[in-house]
Amino acid sequence: MSSFDFDLFVIGGGSGGVRAGRVAASLGKKVGVAEEYRFGGTCVIRGCVPKKLFVYASQYREHFEDATGFGWSVGESAFNWEKLLEAKDREVGRLESLYRKGLENNHATIFDSRAELVDAHTVKIVKTGETVTAERIIIATGGAPSMPASLEGHQFGISSDEAFHLEELPKAIVIAGGGYIAVEFANIFHGLGVDTTLIYRGMEILSRFDGDVRRGLHKAMEEKGIRVILEDVFEKIEKRGDGRLAGTTLKGQTLIADQIMFAIGRRPNTANLGLDRAGVALDEKGAVKVDLYSRTSVPSIFALGDVTDRVQLTPVAIHEAMCFIETEYRNNPTAPDHELIPTAVFSQPEIGTVGMSEEAAAKKFPEIEVYRAEFRPMKATLSGRAEKMIMKLVVNAADRKVIGAHILGHDAGEMAQLLGITLKAGCTKDDFDRTMAVHPTASEELVTMYAPSYRVRNGERV
Ligand SMILES: Cc1cc2nc3c(=O)[nH]c(=O)nc-3n(C[C@H](O)[C@H](O)[C@H](O)COP(=O)(O)OP(=O)(O)OC[C@H]3O[C@@H](n4cnc5c(N)ncnc54)[C@H](O)[C@@H]3O)c2cc1C
Repeated sequence: MSSFDFDLFVIGGGSGGVRAGRVAASLGKKVGVAEEYRFGGTCVIRGCVPKKLFVYASQYREHFEDATGFGWSVGESAFNWEKLLEAKDREVGRLESLYRKGLENNHATIFDSRAELVDAHTVKIVKTGETVTAERIIIATGGAPSMPASLEGHQFGISSDEAFHLEELPKAIVIAGGGYIAVEFANIFHGLGVDTTLIYRGMEILSRFDGDVRRGLHKAMEEKGIRVILEDVFEKIEKRGDGRLAGTTLKGQTLIADQIMFAIGRRPNTANLGLDRAGVALDEKGAVKVDLYSRTSVPSIFALGDVTDRVQLTPVAIHEAMCFIETEYRNNPTAPDHELIPTAVFSQPEIGTVGMSEEAAAKKFPEIEVYRAEFRPMKATLSGRAEKMIMKLVVNAADRKVIGAHILGHDAGEMAQLLGITLKAGCTKDDFDRTMAVHPTASEELVTMYAPSYRVRNGERV
């Protein structure tokens, strides 16, 4: 019999922690899980789920406008922010209880408390002060929004956490950042009728994405009326007498808004966790250092999900949790596979992507073929919406393997999921060519682009 209170203790009840705890408990392990806020973690409570609900809400304005082209007369429409928040909170609460139930049904012990490490096998339950021991401990504490602490007036700004609970929908918002969270929220607020500005220090938004889809999205956002300011940052934020905020930028612009939101990155939740006491090593960004199997520098302590700053996505945290289970409890050492992760940006239009951008592929391979189509989707013909869809396949000329697929347009995220399977299976362009099209769809372009639009040889387009 084990001399520990638990076989496994998980700190953090988010995507990765709950999955590891629930599956370990279902295998008969004695499991404890501590969550300091709400079960479900970032994704369910203040990330993917409420965000996607907001995305849906923000799309209706265009749906109402587009309906006219298809013969509909839509009456006067009005949006109620409070109603959206209520509905969103109900759904988040429902999901939260499912996460909790999943643990309870498998007889895991739940601690509604912050937990901190005492040593390699001991955890302190902060709410009660009790300590418990465990053979293995997982740190799955996720991350939190970074705020620009050195910026004068930063305290007037909000992060994505607060954006989900604003008492009033602002009339104007400025969002600082150029990553997917900043871009998604800019589209959400604009769709809900808010005067929206995005300000980003870099040369183009979404720096890690394929250049074509980044530029295409930037253009589409500006055409909709979102102001995008690049290569500039806030220098100071002041609260005016009328309660509005005035942000002054490095280049001397003054941006007036009711809210200023920072989406400038996320930091791992490792502060005051007792990691130093237990001897767990961190990297220079404060993320927990792990090996290929999510083992930390202490053999009994593991870390997974955002706190390790590998790839900050929910399915990745869940995958890392399942690899932990395989390795530690099923005698099947399995390292998480971080290659070819399909992903989406839920902007309007959406981005769906998997694999290498053209720019990255051109650096890595002597010759690539690029198949690219830019067209007006069928839905936009009758609606009259000036909108273009971009589809792009990046192929390694040497072996014809499709190494990148990038889409800008409706349902791009859904398509990226399926493209993810084909790229993971190592499909070649010839496999795409011999696949029958589904007609009439937008995605049929993916299997009907027979000739390369251009090649890139030794970094030069030919
Ligand atoms: C606005 C936003 C939108 C996002 N959209 C997407 C998306 O569309 N798709 C996608 O794949 N990913 C998205 N993400 C990322 C995704 O939410 C994270 O990658 C995912 O939640 C990481 O899971 P995790 O288990 O590592 O951590 P989390 O889900 O963050 O869970 C960590 C949990 O640990 C708890 N905790 C922290 N410290 C302690 C402690 N000491 N004791 C007890 N509990 C503690 C926290 O309260 C939290 O509940 C989004 C994130 C944000 C912020």
